[in-house]
Amino acid sequence: RAKNEERGGFRLFEQRMEDEIEEQRALDLEIRTSIAAGSFVPYFQPLVELNGGRIVGFEILARWRHPRRGLLLPVEFIPAAERLGCVTNLTLGVLRQACEQVKSWTAKPRLAVNISPGELHDRTLALKLMAVLSQTGFPPNRLEVEITEGAVIIDNLARDFVDQLRSVGISVALDDFGTGYSSLSKLQELRFDKIKIDRSFIRRAEHSSESRKLIRMIVALGKTLNVATTAEGVESPEMARLLARKGCTYGQGYHFGKPMPVSEAETLFNASVTPFGMSASERAAGR
Ligand code: C2E
Ligand code: MG
Ligand code: MG
Ligand code: MG
Repeated sequence: RAKNEERGGFRLFEQRMEDEIEEQRALDLEIRTSIAAGSFVPYFQPLVELNGGRIVGFEILARWRHPRRGLLLPVEFIPAAERLGCVTNLTLGVLRQACEQVKSWTAKPRLAVNISPGELHDRTLALKLMAVLSQTGFPPNRLEVEITEGAVIIDNLARDFVDQLRSVGISVALDDFGTGYSSLSKLQELRFDKIKIDRSFIRRAEHSSESRKLIRMIVALGKTLNVATTAEGVESPEMARLLARKGCTYGQGYHFGKPMPVSEAETLFNASVTPFGMSASERAAGR
């Protein structure tokens, strides 16, 4: 009897495996067709100068307008797209849309786009990004490319990529700093324009004086290397003020605005850069 049960259990396991493989196959197919159909769209999250509260631009975050499942977050499709080798097409498509969309804005924002570590194996990636810029008329000096520490350890690839981007005026940010493997020597070697302090430090800083000290240290590191710092995951006005006091240059997080569709982003940006009255974030902070 035990044997039979065992066999039954195994069959159940097999069935589950098959279901999972089938699901994955369906997802893969959907992703490919959705890229072609333009169902991946850019959402815009404000990047804010902590000193004064002006919005300087937006990070582009991909969203999937799924016909049945609604609006999906990157965690639902970026890993699959990476595995399929089509994440670059997805990202370029989303960047292209964003560049087209902000073209008609009266005030001109900076845009930041995310690149997955694995994408660096494509030696033509920088050229592909530049092609999107020239085709949409978006100036390179208003684009920022965000790469994570996972990308930094892919030795020469990261260095060549950063050099290529910087040589045409595109800036480069080190994303999720403090969670990965980048060494101080890598930080010195690769010429980043900006370090983005990972959200986990900011979250802990509320209760932990140690985390606050670490943030101060990262800001000081940035100053030493002549690199600006951005704090991710700023969720309260108190945290925004604390980070400003610590000398952090930029902030990003729900306090300033969640990732939003383009029309909302345009309204918020216009209100923020207007020379009269308070900036959007000052209003939000109730100052
Ligand atoms: P990321 O580049 O570190 O982006 C920041 C993430 O933190 C976003 O998640 C954003 O919605 C979230 N976030 C921002 N402020 C707050 C806050 O105050 N509190 C909390 N709890 N979360 C906040 P999202 O949009 O789910 O994106 C996740 C990741 O997916 C991104 O992390 C980025 O690495 C990746 N990603 C997004 N779009 C693309 C893309 O077009 N291409 C590639 N290759 N990766 C992308
Ligand atoms: Mg990012
Ligand atoms: Mg990040
Ligand atoms: Mg992150």
